[in-house]
Formats: sequence, structure tokens, C-alpha cells
Amino acid sequence: MLHLQTVADLRAACDRARAGGHSVGLVPTMGFLHAGHRSLMRAARAGCDFVVVTIFVNPLQFGPGEDLDRYPRDLAGDLAQCEEEQVDCVFAPAAREMYPSAPLTTVHVARLTEGMCGAARPTHFDGVTTVVAKLFAIVGPCTAYFGRKDAQQLAVVRRMAEDLNLPVTVVGCPLVREADGLALSSRNAYLDPEERAAAPVLFAALRAAGDAVVAGERDAQRLRAIVRETVAKEPSVALEYVDVRDAQGLEPVATIDGDGELLVALAARIGATRLIDNIGISIRGGDVALDLGRTV
Ligand code: AMP
Repeated sequence: MLHLQTVADLRAACDRARAGGHSVGLVPTMGFLHAGHRSLMRAARAGCDFVVVTIFVNPLQFGPGEDLDRYPRDLAGDLAQCEEEQVDCVFAPAAREMYPSAPLTTVHVARLTEGMCGAARPTHFDGVTTVVAKLFAIVGPCTAYFGRKDAQQLAVVRRMAEDLNLPVTVVGCPLVREADGLALSSRNAYLDPEERAAAPVLFAALRAAGDAVVAGERDAQRLRAIVRETVAKEPSVALEYVDVRDAQGLEPVATIDGDGELLVALAARIGATRLIDNIGISIRGGDVALDLGRTV
């Protein structure tokens, strides 16, 4: 496995792979890898010849007062996990390699970034799209794998690639959960035992809303109320938002009518830790299918 630190080396490795007739698969991460990240690596391994994992805690996507400085890091552990997943190349650059000076050029995707996580984190998605656009530019033509855990991020990155004609196929992969329903996240490491015990209420709330849709509920207000009421049973969990949105364009949905792919998405704080989660709802000819993700 290659372990690269410079933009020039990563670009050369990807160019070399393509020149040899190999397809390139890209898995961008911030490291502190877990089974959610590993599921993306497996999808890339199954679909591509040369698999690149990037590990970079991107300062640009953290707002003032957020957890940039204490974000968990474990490069040695991450490299071992990448080896186990038969990754071909890990790119783990220093911040000054990615940003030799503060960038004057950033990428902004309008509208899709405005509500949901964009409300509490107004500069977050510009940081994400800027670093992902840079990675796409360095890696070149590839298939890039993103988790549906970050459903808004996936919609935003897809739209960026489409709008800018980037030579990248964006693939969304299933959300991976712990056995008790908590969505895997590097930030789960912040939770103390009591907070960890309370955290599965987020998935329980989303599942209650999903079950209500299966039972015939079509009013988004009602679904949001179900989520709020369920989360309220854990006083240590503060819901930041819960929204019912179209999965692709992220338009708010008032009433579920006709066929479509929807999201019920939320963010919440447990102590100082901010977590996100969502479920997918697919409606076809009156039939409802829930996408609850899968368990490790
Ligand atoms: P992060 O390191 O948190 O920036 O995440 C890197 C990639 O892994 C993103 O595409 C995430 O959506 C994805 N990811 C993180 N957690 C999960 C999870 N629990 N299930 C599936 N994908 C995930």
C-alpha cells in the first residue's frame, strides 16, 4: 500500500494507474476510521482497480468554536485498517500541503446547503465542497464513494460534480449502524457512557417516523412531531432540527404524495457532541420501503 503525503505524488499515482488501464476509486475521509468508512472502501475495492483513501481533517469545514482541534486522530490505526481492506493508496497530507495559503477560490453550492446542517454550520459545506473539488482535481477521473450517513453532503457533492462537469461518478453507500441503532461516527468517541446509552434514541425516533409512514401517515409535520416526541424522552439529548426532504434536491416536503425518494434527517446535541442521522423513504406506486441503513 502506498502512503503518500504530497499532491504531486497522489496525482502521479492516479495518472499511472489510469495509464495502465486501471480504474480509480476514491474514498475521502477525515480519518479515525470505523466500519462505516470501511464499507465505502469495500464498495470501492469491488468496483475499481486502484483504490485511494484520503485522510484529512479539513480545517475549512470547521466553524469557529467547533471541534477541529480535538477531532479524533489515529493515523497508525487508520493505515492498518486500510491495509486490511486492501486499499492501494492512502493520501494523508498536512494542512499546509492542501492549503499552502488561505484559498481565495472556494466552491459554493447554493440552496442545497442552506437548511438542515447548513443552518447551524453556515460555512461547513463550502469547506466540504472546496476540499472535495480539490481532491477530485488531484485524483482525476474516478468513481468517488460517499456515505448516505451524510445525506446532505452527498446531495451537495453530487450537485457540485454535475454542475462543474467534474470527471467523477459519485456513488452513495448505505449508512452503517451499531447493533443498538446508533449511526457510526468518528464523533461517537466523544460520548461518555451515559451519553452513549442515550444516543440510540436518535435512530429510535427516525424509525418511529418511518414506521408511521409505513402505517399510512403522510403529513411531514406529524412525522417531525413523532421524532421530536421520541427524542424528548431522553432529556440529555437536544434536537437541533428534524426535516422531511426530497432526497436529491433536498426540497422540504409538506405532504408525502406520489412516488419519490425522501429523507427524514436530524441533528442533535448530546452534551458537547453534535450527531446527525437520517433514514430514507422510498415510495413507489403506493408501496413504502424504508432505508434504515445496515448494522455492522
Ligand atoms: P468523515 O470521515 O466523517 O468525513 O466521513 C467520510 C465518509 O464516510 C463520508 O462519505 C461519510 O458519509 C462516510 N461515513 C461516515 N460514517 C458513516 C456511516 N456510519 N455509514 C456509512 N458511511 C459513513
